Amino acid sequence: MTVMIDRTQAELAPMFARMESEGIFMFEIPTPFAVGPVNCYLIEDDPLTLIDVGTNSGDALEALENALASRGHKLADLDQIIITHQHIDHGGLIEVVKQRSGAQVACLDRCVPWIEDFQSEASATDRWASKTMQQNGVPEEVAVALRAVAKAFRGWGSSAKVDRVLQEGDVMKFRDRELEIFYRPGHSISDTVFWNADTQTLIAADHLIKHISSNPLLERPPAPDQPRPQELVVYVESLRKTREMSATLTLSGHGEPIADHVSLIDERFALTEKRVEKLYSMLADGGPQSAHELARGTWGNIAVTQAFLTLSEVLGNLDILENAGRVSRSESDDVVKYEVAA
Ligand SMILES: [Zn+2]
Repeated sequence: MTVMIDRTQAELAPMFARMESEGIFMFEIPTPFAVGPVNCYLIEDDPLTLIDVGTNSGDALEALENALASRGHKLADLDQIIITHQHIDHGGLIEVVKQRSGAQVACLDRCVPWIEDFQSEASATDRWASKTMQQNGVPEEVAVALRAVAKAFRGWGSSAKVDRVLQEGDVMKFRDRELEIFYRPGHSISDTVFWNADTQTLIAADHLIKHISSNPLLERPPAPDQPRPQELVVYVESLRKTREMSATLTLSGHGEPIADHVSLIDERFALTEKRVEKLYSMLADGGPQSAHELARGTWGNIAVTQAFLTLSEVLGNLDILENAGRVSRSESDDVVKYEVAA
């Protein structure tokens, strides 16, 4: 045990030393979610910048204030807050942090509606998710229960006005660095990564996490008459772009820094391929099935809170098979069924 900890520490120490030399400090802020703490990053530069703020809770606020104090700062010292994507473990505390710091808030154009009116965006998504679950065979009582859970979760979010809207390709200038903005959707529709070409450091948030294969969640289409975005397909495409980057240090929204993003991305590709093939053989062996039936076949009896996650995963894999012409779908009794293409 001790040996393992020592080895991990030995691997991590140079990465943290490098971050410090670049003026980047990782704060682990607690969340009430299964994912565990979220990583926020302080950039000690001009403007003094915080990337992500954590969840809307007293614990998170206290942890953030303590972390800032450990570097000799107060909330009021912050000049700028950047939010990496729309999820509440990253941006939930924005209202309080903006109020107390007076800092400018910046995020990608796609993220703005979520930061400025979190409750409306989240409830529209919950309504859409409920309908989508039922269309894909999730029993109504599970969808209803999950909607109640989602509603309770919304208390962990908040809203604030965005002062600077970022676009892909923008460059954020600091006294000692420049960060280039890239849009890398998939984990969510607003995932943004920040690239320092001089140091080859990538701040990737939840786009790439060492110990979790970021599960692309289903997302509401931009307009009601448009098809559902194919989040896993989009995510794979985003990972391909990131794989081409010459990053030597990648900083995640959860867990440890990543030294070798290319091997990690290759592992993710291999895992996706394995899951896609497993689903294909389930359809080949078991005949037409709904996405929910396939999820049950894969994970057994699914906890209510996992129903949306597992459905997201199955539909993501089915999108890949459908795009390749290997499966087709049909609708019976308002439920979509998938089968191996003739
Ligand atoms: Zn996260």
